[in-house]
Amino acid sequence: MGAVDEVKERIDVVEFISSYVPLKKAGRTYKGLCPFHAEKTPSFVVFPHTQTWHCFGACGTGGDVFSFLMQREGLSFSEALEQLARRAGVALTRPTAESEATNKRREKLLEMHATAAQYFHHLLCQSAEGAVAKAYLAERSIDSQTVERFQLGYALDAWDGLKSHLLDRGYSEAEQLEGGLLVRQEESGRSYDRFRHRLIVPIRDRQGRVIAFGARVLKADDVPKYLNSPQTPLFDKGRTLFGLDLAKQVIREADQAVIVEGYMDVLSAHQQGHSNVVAGMGTALTEEQLRQVKRLTKHFVLALDADTAGSAAALRGISTARQALDRSVEPVLTSQGLVRFEGRLDVDIRIATLPAGRDPDDILRETPEEWPGIVDQALPVVSFYMQAVAAQHDLETAKGKSELVRAVSPLLREISDPVERAHYVDQLARLVKVDERVLLADLERSPVAPRRPAPGGAAGPVIIQEERGVFGPEEYLLASILRDPGALVAAKEELTRLDCQGVSAGDFRDTLNQQLFLMVSKPEGTVEQADPVLESHLDFLRERGERPPVVSPHLLPAELVNRVLRLRDQILQEELTGLRLVQREADESGDRQESVRYQSLVDSSRRRLGTVQRAMYKRSTTGRRREQEEREGLVRV
Ligand SMILES: [Zn+2]
Repeated sequence: MGAVDEVKERIDVVEFISSYVPLKKAGRTYKGLCPFHAEKTPSFVVFPHTQTWHCFGACGTGGDVFSFLMQREGLSFSEALEQLARRAGVALTRPTAESEATNKRREKLLEMHATAAQYFHHLLCQSAEGAVAKAYLAERSIDSQTVERFQLGYALDAWDGLKSHLLDRGYSEAEQLEGGLLVRQEESGRSYDRFRHRLIVPIRDRQGRVIAFGARVLKADDVPKYLNSPQTPLFDKGRTLFGLDLAKQVIREADQAVIVEGYMDVLSAHQQGHSNVVAGMGTALTEEQLRQVKRLTKHFVLALDADTAGSAAALRGISTARQALDRSVEPVLTSQGLVRFEGRLDVDIRIATLPAGRDPDDILRETPEEWPGIVDQALPVVSFYMQAVAAQHDLETAKGKSELVRAVSPLLREISDPVERAHYVDQLARLVKVDERVLLADLERSPVAPRRPAPGGAAGPVIIQEERGVFGPEEYLLASILRDPGALVAAKEELTRLDCQGVSAGDFRDTLNQQLFLMVSKPEGTVEQADPVLESHLDFLRERGERPPVVSPHLLPAELVNRVLRLRDQILQEELTGLRLVQREADESGDRQESVRYQSLVDSSRRRLGTVQRAMYKRSTTGRRREQEEREGLVRV
């Protein structure tokens, strides 16, 4: 995730704009007086579900949180990014002498972890002492292929086994302490191996580099059962998913990710050929973990042990968890958080429950044929929660009904899609045998839950380096233009023939993409000193644009035309949806004049949509054949 996306994730557009413009809630939107032109009746609308704003009055502008701040304060994109990043607690990575030193240190820690992993692995496979760990693996039916694939290892029953091995190879005591491989004893000040007489599971980042270790006891009375590396400069358990390096390709292909609780479950799943399985780090799932997977698929299944799934902690969605969170960098996902995450990021999260008393590992070992069915039968979060809570209450009593409604309402309020929401309201109404309208009225009355607060200065900044961003249709278009900016001229000719305008910044909804377009479409040499953040995004797009499949150069203009028409179609459809929404709200509040005004805006965007769709038709195979026939017909006449 790039810094720009991270900022967007953390700053709520309603909250942000409210600090400049007093906003009033009107149905699902917020309204205020446009700060960009003088007006007496509010035509400035903020849409929380898309995190955008639009002025339906004289200026007709719109955009996201970046474009708002840029216009309001007259800032460049970089300046706006800097301000917003500070507010969101996101550190912008700019190469400095200091960060270069940090990078060197990171590199050294990574090498040290790779060396340690080899050391542990060697002990498991080659040493006499490793036999006990081997016996344990055999008992869990973990085969040698899995041992190799995950590079499992064994830590000696000694105080300085790893320590002296690493010292010999040039890793200082301080470095080993920083990497969490040693523990320092308070009184004596002496340090010793953190992992002793345990099965070692290397924990890797997305790129497959060892960043930490998990360790399981081999003696029944040792505690804790599982011991992980502590938080280090390499390892943040809230941002790591075990097995993702090996699962990512399969997750993409299967278009589904299954998330389990323990790393032993992942070993068994992969061994059984279910390689789209990853695990959290023994703590509750965080939004950041899910976001990493979201780049691979939009379909998540959480396979929870029966006791976790049924526990109040997993189901509770509300204030207690949130308060505890305000202090931490990453929120832990409660059921409410999951629903919000689904809505905001447009993903589908389901929960699979395992038979009581059995964890994924048991099933994968004993009855692996049951696994696909369990995953297939996963329920959407809201249904799952509704059923689980319903099971705890007597729905024949008024008290039971009201408790169920009270427990489920916060979840329903998080659902941004009105159709989906209606579906669940209906489901709930049938469950408690209460009229749907009563439930709806109740939902409308209660306050909307606050979004996740920006962490601000109190929380530690999050440093983002690994992934630089999403690569959607807008990014694809930009990458194509980068390959040959000259193709824009040919594309413009074709667009003109179709009664459309050439490609412009307005074809991009994302402010960063607008800025990048302005940069790349300017003639060579006229771009002033570019911002490092913009430059790094250009690099990212260039690199992605070269990955296959690549359109051949002579087809590029046609590709640009198709792409831009599709984007316009989407933008206009969305604009129409927004307009219809505000018009309906004007109708409902009895504002006849406003409603008429919105109608004329609806008409005009419909006309523009018509032009775009006609152009798309003309470029389709049928459209082109038709055109050809007409031309030939004319020739014949
Ligand atoms: Zn305006």
